[in-house]
Amino acid sequence: VPQLIVRDVTVIDVAAGQAFGPRTIVIRDGRIEAIATTGTANDTPSLDGAGLFAMPGLIDAHVHLFFDGGAAPLSMYKASNDQGRLTTARQNAERALSAGVTTVRDLGAPPDLMSVLQNEVGSGRSRGPHIVSSGAPLTRPGGHCHFFGGEVTTSAEVREVIERQSSQGATCVKVMASGGGMTAGTRPSEADFPLELMTTAREVADMNGMTITAHCHATAAINRAISAGIRCLEHVSFMEPSGHPRFDRETGMRLKESGAVACPTVASGQRAARLFRREGHGYHADDIGALERLEARGPIAAELHGLGVPLIAGSDAGSDDTPFDVVIEEIEALHEAGVARSEALRSATSESARHLSLRDRGEIKVGYVADMLLLAADPLRDLTALRSPLAVIRSGEVVADGR
Ligand SMILES: [Zn+2]
Repeated sequence: VPQLIVRDVTVIDVAAGQAFGPRTIVIRDGRIEAIATTGTANDTPSLDGAGLFAMPGLIDAHVHLFFDGGAAPLSMYKASNDQGRLTTARQNAERALSAGVTTVRDLGAPPDLMSVLQNEVGSGRSRGPHIVSSGAPLTRPGGHCHFFGGEVTTSAEVREVIERQSSQGATCVKVMASGGGMTAGTRPSEADFPLELMTTAREVADMNGMTITAHCHATAAINRAISAGIRCLEHVSFMEPSGHPRFDRETGMRLKESGAVACPTVASGQRAARLFRREGHGYHADDIGALERLEARGPIAAELHGLGVPLIAGSDAGSDDTPFDVVIEEIEALHEAGVARSEALRSATSESARHLSLRDRGEIKVGYVADMLLLAADPLRDLTALRSPLAVIRSGEVVADGR
């Protein structure tokens, strides 16, 4: 007996950018078993999708489940203990799922607690999206997010940290290729992770079947990551040694030619900038270019898109003033940066899945994980339909139903 049937729904084929239907979607054991033209009459629980639109669940490619997304996430994290941190992460996971995010990629977390959370969510004891995790990012001693425990100075340490985290459930690797606003004592405009270690990290990730991405504010860090063979980049802020952002076309072309994908986290930058302007401060006194950097992300995303660099949607949820239900703002920000509506939708579904090597999700397709949203309007015509999904289905289970 199937697990669930969604009847008479219009299906959004995000890959083709088309709606078709009505169809009946048959779900069994958490996967899509059939997409049929006629309903089957039996005892299976069913949802009436008449007049509604089914699209794949959203993938948020950049989150931090253990940060609270408030006005001072790092201070709150540091002041908390394991139980408090887990509570924050559980609440974040629940909030993301209710907003229609069925998969997150966490790019910076305490590895032991992440392992606990992944087990809870995986076994159904906590509600949340599927979690792809990097665990602790690799960073230089004292580097960006060093407090998660990923400090490395030698290739042997790089290997050891990646292999240990792999055994704890990490399926991707994150390298901090430059400093970050959040971590005092680091400079976002400086490439502070050695090329040699980055190359080792990429090789060890490949060998362990893990994906790898690099946090890059500095233009020099972007270039180093490309040279190391890394094909996914976060933020991509084009910071110059002067401490100011400036889009560099040559580096942009290199990015394009390498085949890399960028996760520019535009909306989170805009949110943090608004917070800092309101409160009259930045991350900390040393980070002089913070506002400029955060506000440049939209124009830089537009430049990258213009060059043909693929973009994926990451909310950076957990960071300053960025809660877990705003990946929709990133999809809208990419659209504002010139990305067509259908492509903006793919940036959080099929294309994101492809670039993150998640081969069984991101589309409504037979054999795929049954992660989907039911919407009141066609998101290919109106992205705001994403703001309030009527129902959220995760692995065939209806986890939110506001119909
Ligand atoms: Zn981040």
